[in-house]
Amino acid sequence: MEFAVDAKLPIYSGGLGVLAGDHLKAAADLGVPLVGVGLFYRGGYFTQGLSTAGRQTEEYHPVDPEAAGLVREPVTVEVDLAGQKITAAVWRYDVRSAIGHTVPLYLLDVDMLTDALYGGDREHRIRQELLLGVGGVRALSALGLKPTVFHVNEGHSAFLTIERARELVEEGSEPQRALEVVRGSTIFTTHTPVPAGNEIFGNELVLRYVGELAGQAGLSAKELLALGRTEGTDGFGLTPLALRLSAAANGVSELHGEVARDMWAPLWPGEEPRIGHVTNGVHIGTWLAPELAELLRTVGVRPEAPPDEGNWDAVHELGSPELWRVHATLKERVAALTGFDAERLTIGFARRFATYKRAGLVFSDLERLLRLPVQIVVAGKAHPQDAAGKDVMQRIVKLSRDPGVAGRVVFLENYDLDLARTIIPGCDIWLNTPRRPYEASGTSGMKAAVNGVPNLSVLDGWWAEAYGPEVGWALDGATDEADAAQLYRVLEEQVVPRFHDREAWVTMMKNSISHLAPRFSMERAVIEYVERYYLPSTADVSAR
Ligand SMILES: *Cc1c(COP(=O)(O)O)cnc(C)c1O
Repeated sequence: MEFAVDAKLPIYSGGLGVLAGDHLKAAADLGVPLVGVGLFYRGGYFTQGLSTAGRQTEEYHPVDPEAAGLVREPVTVEVDLAGQKITAAVWRYDVRSAIGHTVPLYLLDVDMLTDALYGGDREHRIRQELLLGVGGVRALSALGLKPTVFHVNEGHSAFLTIERARELVEEGSEPQRALEVVRGSTIFTTHTPVPAGNEIFGNELVLRYVGELAGQAGLSAKELLALGRTEGTDGFGLTPLALRLSAAANGVSELHGEVARDMWAPLWPGEEPRIGHVTNGVHIGTWLAPELAELLRTVGVRPEAPPDEGNWDAVHELGSPELWRVHATLKERVAALTGFDAERLTIGFARRFATYKRAGLVFSDLERLLRLPVQIVVAGKAHPQDAAGKDVMQRIVKLSRDPGVAGRVVFLENYDLDLARTIIPGCDIWLNTPRRPYEASGTSGMKAAVNGVPNLSVLDGWWAEAYGPEVGWALDGATDEADAAQLYRVLEEQVVPRFHDREAWVTMMKNSISHLAPRFSMERAVIEYVERYYLPSTADVSAR
């Protein structure tokens, strides 16, 4: 549903989109024959501003497709939406790698339907998701592409399974066999335990929009609804649909794999849930600051090489003063945006303002925080319909405007790919305080780690596997109060004293890069997807 490939193409809201964009970029680097399919939201995701009261304001600016690098494909696709035939245009964005391989991203575009990302009601949403799932499959056919494996990346595109079954039945397959073929060549990634990522539609809405399509695939209304049902709940879930019609599924960190297995166990009574995990990664070429990449090359690290060939151990041959000098340059950039003292310990916190991320935790005892020699930069957007997230943001914005805070807490507006690339490498500590276990992975901490910015984070998502005392600090992830108390203690007793021991600090920076960059690169994740998910599913299809 979202892809973040370029800040000029604002069709993403946060980490999920960045991950999908990074997936395409890493696939391009590795030469994987993969294409992306999404929607072109003409109004994009909003531009964030702040009112005088410190409340988030949202403006939607029309995206100029040509200026955003989109090329119009000479095909259109038709989708039936509850009796209304709509025609979608198809745009292409080429994700190019340094080795000359290109991964195309196809974006479907229908006036009125792809107006904005995350606008509208449930009906608007199911229409968008049918366009993506059904229109996406038809676009690939119209373009002459015959994928061997479909990767349903979060449930939003799961209706593609029904369309593929319909296609096979139209070509003469028995309905039961069509479903088997679809199942054998679909893989599914679930990205979050929170409800927003596990959408449920009313049965009536599903029958009205998908009933006829399913009928053409040989599925009765009852059989269709059974595919989306979860025991104990009413309605039609896209995650159950995708889980039931995929050969293999995965969560996005080891811990999230466990959480997802528990959550979806009722789908396979008496059986081991078929959900594994592929821990997320970040595209090094996008997220490693160019100045730092340059420095790393001087000691023989090849940041753009596949993870096992990058020789990241050579990081330890870097002179500490040299590494610190480059880091100081990156810090200057944050200081220029915030007015910060470039010498002082800078803490970064930037991500979507979803309430489970608890952006307010570090400010829960402001006096205690301000007694420390630290400054904090905060950024991120709240979902336009998330009043509680906006409340948290407003409280932080107001506090940052308090003269008593004296510029030591700064909120930067309109967080996006470009701002992320400036802020993250220019902090000394990257903070993340989600309520465990809701942060399925988290990726901004990986971006920090590859830039030698140690993490201070709750042991949730990726950090539960990455943490060690040589690369950062961990919070247990208990109650809000216990986490806040532990956070202050760690800052006072460990982070601040260590920061003033420059040699020890720079050693930690080097550890962070050398230990974590190869393990949490998107190249490593894409290689896992290829070897453990894409290729086995391909073999299944050709065996039929
Ligand atoms: C990486 C990134 C995110 C994800 O941050 P998390 O801390 O993983 O939630 C969100 N927005 C932007 C713009 C990013 O670059």
